[in-house]
Amino acid sequence: MKPPRRPIYLDSHATTPMDPRVLEAMLPCFTEHFGNASSDSHPYGEDAAEAVERARETVAGALGAQPREIVFTSGATEANALAILGATAAQRDKSRRKVITAATEHKAVLDPVRRLEREGWDVVILPVGADGLLDLDALAKELDERTALVSVMHGNNETGVLQDIAAIGALCEAAGAVFHTDATQTAGKLPLDLGAMPVGLLSCSAHKVYGPKGVGALYVRKSRPRVRLEPLVTGGGQERGLRGGTLNTPGIVGFAKALELAVRGREAERVRVAALRDQLRDRLFAELDELRENGAGAPRMAHSLSVTFRYVDATALMNHLREVIAVSSGSACSSRDPEPSHVLLAMGLTAEEARSTLRFGLSRFTTDDDVETAAGALIAAARELRAHSPLYSMR
Ligand code: PMP
Repeated sequence: MKPPRRPIYLDSHATTPMDPRVLEAMLPCFTEHFGNASSDSHPYGEDAAEAVERARETVAGALGAQPREIVFTSGATEANALAILGATAAQRDKSRRKVITAATEHKAVLDPVRRLEREGWDVVILPVGADGLLDLDALAKELDERTALVSVMHGNNETGVLQDIAAIGALCEAAGAVFHTDATQTAGKLPLDLGAMPVGLLSCSAHKVYGPKGVGALYVRKSRPRVRLEPLVTGGGQERGLRGGTLNTPGIVGFAKALELAVRGREAERVRVAALRDQLRDRLFAELDELRENGAGAPRMAHSLSVTFRYVDATALMNHLREVIAVSSGSACSSRDPEPSHVLLAMGLTAEEARSTLRFGLSRFTTDDDVETAAGALIAAARELRAHSPLYSMR
């Protein structure tokens, strides 16, 4: 008997399956090369330290950074916290007590910013337009000599909308503020040349690019200008004193392998995935009415699609399709949260529309067949649910 087919995975903003080549690169770090990278008075530790430094070079290379600008962390949540809390704690100019961010940021940015607000920092959360883009004029108006830090993400994890980080960084540079960007969704997928960009701090995570969970990095600019940070975790002095704790050698090696693979096939993969994403959207829009594509007017990541199915409850739709597709209605961290998505509300959707929205995340492993099966199942389920909706028939 054939085992039951697992649902088609379309939730790659939450996480991606690990590439088998990444696992292969990691395995020796669990077995013969198990040493502690900080205990290198013998070959075990030396091997681990060398593996970490090679990985640091690869990660830096993938981002256009210098190896000494990479601080390994447990993922992007920690990288964001280190960037936001660490850069503000290191701010020596006491007249700079203002932090600016955007309403559509991930909770891993908004939470540390809220903490600063409780500690007396002046916090500005800028709105976005209906397309999800930050208004650069509004940012320019807020940026002043009191601004310590600006944190604006690169690619949004719910809509795929891409902010113009080069333009935002240039505004911050002119105002003398540190610019942090959460590039968790884009690192490895879109070209980044940090050496040539006005970015002070950048967060990324391995498990969004077919690497392991529990490892990521913070890029910390070392020159023109150098960004100062206070560590959050102190102890063993690892990572130049910026992040204490025994290094996660298998995770770091896996992260480097994942980025190496992502960069190698990047452009072809971007084109392939964008074509599949467009195919999914075109079929849904051809066969269903009352749909809205969120962020359609803005530049977006190739693998992202956010669709509002008016008159359909997204939770009911997901439950209906549980056996066929694995999708999500919003951020993974808040998918159990009954509140409608703060990202969609910030883009002007009503709570009702936000509750009728699904985000689709395609991946390296998504096939044409997957897209056709998913589209067919979504169309049938949405029609069936709408058939029971008095509001839909009365519209
Ligand atoms: N920022 C963004 C934009 C994300 O999508 C995520 C993952 N949901 C995170 C931060 C947190 O990343 P991690 O899981 O590596 O802590």
